[in-house]
Amino acid sequence: MTTVDPSKPYDPDNIFAKILRGEVPCNKVYEDDHAFAFHDINPQAPVHILVIPKGEYVSWDDFSAKASDAEMAGFVKAVGHVAREQGLPVRGYRLLANIGRNGGQEVPHLHVHLFGGGPLGPMLAG
Ligand code: 5GP
Repeated sequence: MTTVDPSKPYDPDNIFAKILRGEVPCNKVYEDDHAFAFHDINPQAPVHILVIPKGEYVSWDDFSAKASDAEMAGFVKAVGHVAREQGLPVRGYRLLANIGRNGGQEVPHLHVHLFGGGPLGPMLAG
C-alpha cells in the first residue's frame, strides 16, 4: 500500500473519514465528542484497536500542531479510556502512531494503534 505524503492536505475521502461518516462499516468499540475507536481490519495482536480523532488531521504531526486544547485532551483521554475499557492496563499494552513515509503511515487520518492481549515482542521488527 502507498504511504502518506505529509505535504498533501487532508483528504476527506480517506477510508477513516468514510468510517467516521458511517459510509464504510467498522467494528466500533467507542465514540465520544472527540474520538472514535474501532477494531483494525487486519489485527497484528490479539487486541488491535485504532483510535482516531473526529477532526480532520492527517497525522500526529498535523494534530499536535493544529488541534485545539479540547481536541487534544479529548483524544488523549479517549485512548486511555478505550485501553481501560478493554482491560489492557492490567497486563500492559502498546500505543503506536505511524507518521508519513518513514513511519509507514498508510491511512492519512491520524490514528493511534492500540495493541494488547498478549506479549507484543520487540518494539521494532525488521
Ligand atoms: P498505518 O499503517 O496507516 O499506521 O495503519 C493503517 C491501519 O488501518 C492498518 O493496520 C490497516 O489494517 C487498517 N485499515 C485499513 N483499512 C481499514 C478499514 O477499512 N477498516 C479497518 N477497520 N481498518 C483498516
